[in-house]
Amino acid sequence: RAKSAGRQRFVLFDDSLQQQALDVLGVEHELRNALARHEFEPYFQPLVGLDDGAVIGYEALVRWRHPTRGVLAPGEFLPVAEDSGLLEAIDWSMYRMACRAGAALVGEGQFMTLNISPRHFQDPEFDVHLLALAREAGFEPARLRIEVTESTLLGDPDAVAAILERLREAHVDAALDDFGTGYSSLGYVQRFPLKMIKIDRSFVAPLGDGMSQRSSAIVAAILALAQSLGLDVVAEGIETDVQRRALQQMGCVHGQGFLFGRPEPASHWRH
Ligand code: C2E
Ligand code: MG
Ligand code: MG
Ligand code: MG
Repeated sequence: RAKSAGRQRFVLFDDSLQQQALDVLGVEHELRNALARHEFEPYFQPLVGLDDGAVIGYEALVRWRHPTRGVLAPGEFLPVAEDSGLLEAIDWSMYRMACRAGAALVGEGQFMTLNISPRHFQDPEFDVHLLALAREAGFEPARLRIEVTESTLLGDPDAVAAILERLREAHVDAALDDFGTGYSSLGYVQRFPLKMIKIDRSFVAPLGDGMSQRSSAIVAAILALAQSLGLDVVAEGIETDVQRRALQQMGCVHGQGFLFGRPEPASHWRH
C-alpha cells in the first residue's frame, strides 16, 4: 500500500512538473506575441509634495494589456520574462512607449522615472541606448530619471558607477528604489552618483498605527543619511493621511502612494 501510494504521489508530482513546464512555455510564447503586438504599456503614478500634493514627477510602471485576461501587473509576468530572456526586450518596448507618452505628460520642472532592472547594466552601452531612445521618442533626457535597486549596485560596482556617471553628465539622474530592504550600507550608497532615494513602503506602512517605533526609527535614520549625503527622499506606498503626517513630522518632503494617486494610463493625468 505504502509503495503504491508513494508511486501514485510520484506520478502526480511528475504530471504537475510537466504541466508547469508547459505553462512556462505557453507564457513565453504569449510574451513573444505580446511584444510583437505592443501589448506592454506604461501606467503612471505621481510623485508629490507631501504638503500640497503638487506633482513633481511620474513613475512609469509597466502593464500588460492582455487580450483576454485584462491589465496585468509586472509581478504576474516579469519573473517569467526574466527566465525566458525577454525582460530586456519588454523593458525597451515599455521605455519607448513611456518616453512617447511622457513627452506630452511631463511638464516643466517635472520628471519621469523608469525602473531599470539590474540586467541592463551588463550592457556597457546601456546609457547610450537609453539616451538615443529618449531622443528618438521626443523626450528630453534632463526630465528622465532612472530607478535602480540595491542589487544593481552589488553587480559590478565600477561598471555600474561608470554608466550612472555618464547618465548624470547627460542630466539623467538616478534614484535608489526600495531603500532599506537591501544592503543599505552608507559606504556604498555614497560611492554611486545618486540624486534620490525612495524609502521602501514596508517602512511606511506601519507608521502611525501604534506599532511603528521601529519603522519610525528606520525612516528617521534614512532621512538623516539622505540629508548628510545631499540626497532627495521620496517615501513610497503612502496610503493614509496618518502616514503622510507622520512622514512630514519627521521632515520628509516628497512621497508617492495610493493616497495621492494609483498608477493610471497617461490619459488619466493629462489635462
Ligand atoms: P517599484 O518600482 O517599487 O514600484 C512601486 C510598486 O508599488 C508599484 O507596483 C506600485 O503600483 C505599488 N504602489 C504604489 N503606491 C502604493 C501604495 O500606496 N500601496 C501599495 N500597496 N502599493 C503601491 P507595480 O506597478 O505592481 O510594480 C511592481 C514592481 O515591478 C516595481 O516596484 C518595479 O520593481 C517593477 N517594475 C515596474 N515597472 C517596471 C518596468 O517597466 N521595468 C522593470 N524592469 N521593472 C518594473
Ligand atoms: Mg520604482
Ligand atoms: Mg519602489
Ligand atoms: Mg517596491
